[in-house]
Amino acid sequence: MPSHNLAHIKIDDLEIIGYSVAGEETVVALPQLDVCFDIGKAPDQVIPINHVLLTHGHMDHTAGFAYYLSQRNFCGISAGTIVAPKNLLKPIREIINSFSRLDGNEIPANIVGVKPGNEHQIKPNLFARVFPTKHSSGSVGYSIIEKRKKLKPEYSSLTGPQIVELKKQGIEIDYPIDIPIATYLGDTQYVDFSQLKYIVESKILIAECTFYEDEHTDRAEAGKHMHINEFAQLLESLQNEHIIITHTTQRTPMSEIHRILRQTLSPETFNKIRILMDRTSKR
Ligand SMILES: [Zn+2]
Ligand SMILES: [Zn+2]
Repeated sequence: MPSHNLAHIKIDDLEIIGYSVAGEETVVALPQLDVCFDIGKAPDQVIPINHVLLTHGHMDHTAGFAYYLSQRNFCGISAGTIVAPKNLLKPIREIINSFSRLDGNEIPANIVGVKPGNEHQIKPNLFARVFPTKHSSGSVGYSIIEKRKKLKPEYSSLTGPQIVELKKQGIEIDYPIDIPIATYLGDTQYVDFSQLKYIVESKILIAECTFYEDEHTDRAEAGKHMHINEFAQLLESLQNEHIIITHTTQRTPMSEIHRILRQTLSPETFNKIRILMDRTSKR
């Protein structure tokens, strides 16, 4: 029996599993891509995933990282990789060292500090690109980018042997393209993400939208979270095919969140939306 009952969303062949409630716990994993965004309380289902990408230091997003590393060791799996904003490296190492002393066993870990603009390699052709968010000191989000090569249009009519011949001559026949598969914003207040093309074009956007009611705008402001009115404005400037909402508040019932989403967003945008914690069917 797994430790958590996680939500499951399937988009084409890609599975997204997780749990995300504001102030309680946030963990969102894409097992096929071998990434887990934030770690929450380290549910059993994410222990085999090799890359944990932390967005910021708040406990509801990070509490389980030492347990994740230790469980992998216990189960005989290679050391896990924790990618985190550079300013969190010191406290992360201190926690691992303290837990190693507490436990009496060294906890193996790969800890990677990143800053906006960096890319961390996940697989040979898969990278996590880091971008800044506005939430806490050094907070970041991640886009998972597949890097492919595409044949230059001037060579598209050539036969296989002709292409081989050009390659032998050392001629560059293709050019690199980036395909943004999924973007995870983590916790953030409104930022004009339309300035980053790979976020605009990311097939899947996983975004926090914490607050929905008019009287919660101050709470959104104080906690540096998004309110539906800002989120609606953001979505109008993006082109994502699928939008998954995380980090919803428990102050507003799910049925009310649906009603407000439907009322605030265009029908086209509303139809792209799924809520990670939604256990009711909206359609
Ligand atoms: Zn949070
Ligand atoms: Zn936070």
